[in-house]
Amino acid sequence: NTMNLFTALRQGFPADLERTAIDAEGALYTWRDLDRASAMLANLLASLDLPAGSRVAAHTDKSVEALLLYLAVLRAGLVYLPLNPAYQQAELDHFLRDAEPAVVVCAGRNFGWVSKLAFQLGTAYVFTLNDDRSGTLLDRAAQMPDAHTPVARKADDLAAILYTSGTTGRSKGAMLSHGNLLSNAQTLKTYWDWKPGDVLIHALPIFHVHGLFVASHGALLNGSTMLWLNRFDPRAVIERLPRATVFMGVPTLYVRLLAEATLTREACRQMRLFISGSAPLLIETFKDFEARTGHAILERYGMSETVMLTSNPCRAADGTRVGGTVGPALPGVRVRVVRADGSACGVDEIGDVQVSGPNVFSGYWRLPEKTAEEFTADGWFKTGDVGRFDAKRYLTIVGRSKDVIITGGFNVYPAEIESYLNEMPGVAESAVIGVPHPDFGEAVVAVVTARPGQAVDAAGLIAALKARIAGFKVPKQVDVVPELPRNAMGKVQKNLLRAARQALFK
Ligand code: ATP
Ligand code: MG
Repeated sequence: NTMNLFTALRQGFPADLERTAIDAEGALYTWRDLDRASAMLANLLASLDLPAGSRVAAHTDKSVEALLLYLAVLRAGLVYLPLNPAYQQAELDHFLRDAEPAVVVCAGRNFGWVSKLAFQLGTAYVFTLNDDRSGTLLDRAAQMPDAHTPVARKADDLAAILYTSGTTGRSKGAMLSHGNLLSNAQTLKTYWDWKPGDVLIHALPIFHVHGLFVASHGALLNGSTMLWLNRFDPRAVIERLPRATVFMGVPTLYVRLLAEATLTREACRQMRLFISGSAPLLIETFKDFEARTGHAILERYGMSETVMLTSNPCRAADGTRVGGTVGPALPGVRVRVVRADGSACGVDEIGDVQVSGPNVFSGYWRLPEKTAEEFTADGWFKTGDVGRFDAKRYLTIVGRSKDVIITGGFNVYPAEIESYLNEMPGVAESAVIGVPHPDFGEAVVAVVTARPGQAVDAAGLIAALKARIAGFKVPKQVDVVPELPRNAMGKVQKNLLRAARQALFK
């Protein structure tokens, strides 16, 4: 219980430190490079003499050095705070005010406005870090010794604050400890059957749980080489498949891979595992991918507050992967689906998903009331997601509780209607929302996009749905739009779709 997460990750490095740890488009980093460079950065942070618990904010583009900065913050026993580099003035103002970081690291091109804002808000140090191995952070670290003993940390000491994606409202800072992150990394190493010789294609952003923790920790803890891409590019990923065994992506990355004719069974011959998460993977994508490559994508479910919660099995001995589900609870993680009165739902009965375990965060940064609201009296975290267990205890997420529509007293789960819509001719994507209605309380409304070069007949969709599902579930209106609004993580922002339609039935 006196384990710095970095120390645990470091123990996963191979004995031969001269081997390649990261191949970043031809720039090779050995394991020794990772160890030394993160030591130098940790020594730089230590030299600043910051108070315990100080936050180090990274508003940087993706680069190996940005990952090294994360490792250095762990080593130094400080608190890492990643921020999406796409955030502009208004967003950064909110996050810096909220988190009050002692150190801000930003891209050189943003130094002017970021440093001005940060210094106004009380930040002591602002460094720059670019994605081409330049910047004042590296200049300063270059003068530091390349050995550093990780600061001792207890399991419940804070390691990072991760802001949620802001899909349902303003982002909240989830406080994650060394113990939260380490327990989850160790669980996934076993459950996903990481093997010697595994090679990970790392093509996700590193300001979020998926790329920063799930992907990076997995490779580091296993001593696995990462084929690193600063930006996702489907062709660059496909080019690397013959040298890799593991790939992690959000659903849209799989759609973009499938759009490439060079994604073939042959190209995936060496691959062991394709993992998807962060948003629902459409069953069509799961099926198309399996037909094209022979691989059943492993879908898992997690969130900023809890890291990973459930996962489809990896090894055949643990079961089969079922598309459309997010699998059973991970070992050591407890997941329950409950009714409004807190009692457990039966098989296939839809209810609120609640979780507990060593991976669950301690609370939202500086939001004690919000934190108290989101935990039950018996200490379970309310995920805000709605789902059901099947007879084999595989979980299916049917939506977010905030998105459930109550129309004329009946519950409508958007994911169900969306799955019907997505199968209809001409429909590319859909989002089903509830809009205030004088008679029904809420009315079901669908917002859809058309497949390229195809037309969508809204009246035809409504008629087709009426023949298939109960009348109360059928959208009263179908809007065809060029594109669905998405946040930085690629998640559909239903709050914006709802806001634009408040007066539709008034
Ligand atoms: P906010 O909490 O600020 O509204 P957010 O919930 O989107 O934003 P994240 O913590 O990034 O922020 O995302 C976690 C959410 O993503 C989960 O609660 C769930 O709704 C969704 N999610 C993650 N993985 C899956 C999955 N495999 N299938 C369906 N939904 C998923
Ligand atoms: Mg959330």
